[in-house]
Amino acid sequence: MEFSLEKIVRKNIKKMKPYSSARHEFSGRASVYLDANENAFGSPVNLTAYSGKIPAMQFNRYPDPLQKQVKEKLSTIKGVPSKNIFLGNGSDEAIDLLFRIFCEPARDNILLFPPTYGMYEVCAEVNNIKTKKIPLTKNFQLDIDAIEQAIDPFTKLIFICSPNNPTGNSINRNDIEIILNNFTGIVVMDEAYINYSRQRSFIPELTEYPNLVVLQTLSKAWGLAGLRVGMAFAAQTIIDLMNKVKYPYNINAVSQQLALDAMNQMDWVNEHTKLIAIEKEKLRTNLSTLPFTEIVYSSDANFLLVKMNKARSVYEFLCSKGIIVRDRSHVIHCDDCLRITVGTSEENKLLIETLKSFSS
Ligand SMILES: *Cc1c(COP(=O)(O)O)cnc(C)c1O
Repeated sequence: MEFSLEKIVRKNIKKMKPYSSARHEFSGRASVYLDANENAFGSPVNLTAYSGKIPAMQFNRYPDPLQKQVKEKLSTIKGVPSKNIFLGNGSDEAIDLLFRIFCEPARDNILLFPPTYGMYEVCAEVNNIKTKKIPLTKNFQLDIDAIEQAIDPFTKLIFICSPNNPTGNSINRNDIEIILNNFTGIVVMDEAYINYSRQRSFIPELTEYPNLVVLQTLSKAWGLAGLRVGMAFAAQTIIDLMNKVKYPYNINAVSQQLALDAMNQMDWVNEHTKLIAIEKEKLRTNLSTLPFTEIVYSSDANFLLVKMNKARSVYEFLCSKGIIVRDRSHVIHCDDCLRITVGTSEENKLLIETLKSFSS
């Protein structure tokens, strides 16, 4: 018998499409990155402030497996007891854990509402779980009747991203409540962009719904995408399961320390969240006046979805000028759309000046 990788690799892994992040799609060097919804203004913590501290950390010791200090601080910020908080290596770890905890491979299924965040489907494929896709309506809202039809006894997870990526809008609260009240599986509310939203978080609703999991992250408004810290809020029973299944030391010592320090600087986060909201409205106005802009969709996030005549050519033109945005034109309901992260005032100005010089 000969060794054959082809024969032993799981079928679902062989045929799955990997997640394609903004950094996968553009890996060259550019001057302006408006493609990954990061915080262009920086972060509340950076290593120059640690010249004494980090070297003093003891790297020979394992970090706290349950991140007690970070959770206690987060508990006061979010108004949620520590026992209802899970911390992961990005929200992505929490998403994967939910599959591994609740879904039986090759049997169960989940519901997704495209266009939405790509990681849900990638995790489903890795775990050999079927996805049932019920597209959002033309207004980017939930199709409640179709959702009701799609749920079966093997449906375990429903992912709702609000504000949604890449559309930027918030999902109607009433529709979410209908699902929370009627679905007997887990409802995952992905609130990665909640700091920018005019809608309230579902965190206060945790006491009402034992089937609710709320995801948030330090990667966006907190400016700490590089730290890889995501949060999940849920009933203690669900949090306990997540802690049972995760790698023991999933958040390294440096990330725990920096996350804690960032949490003592909420002022930075709040100020920059306001600044980004102001920049977003300026950017909206300026994008709207371009002759090839068709629609600038309303946004509760730190990015704008923009429908443009010949979006792909606009994207390529911007790339050639060192400005990277996200081409979403191949995504359902997003034909000819680019997703543009709000940058600093200077970056946004440069973007608009460059776009003004585009002629198709
Ligand atoms: C950016 C983003 C996240 C964050 O993922 P991390 O792994 O925490 O960096 C989660 N969900 C959505 C919808 C996002 O856009």
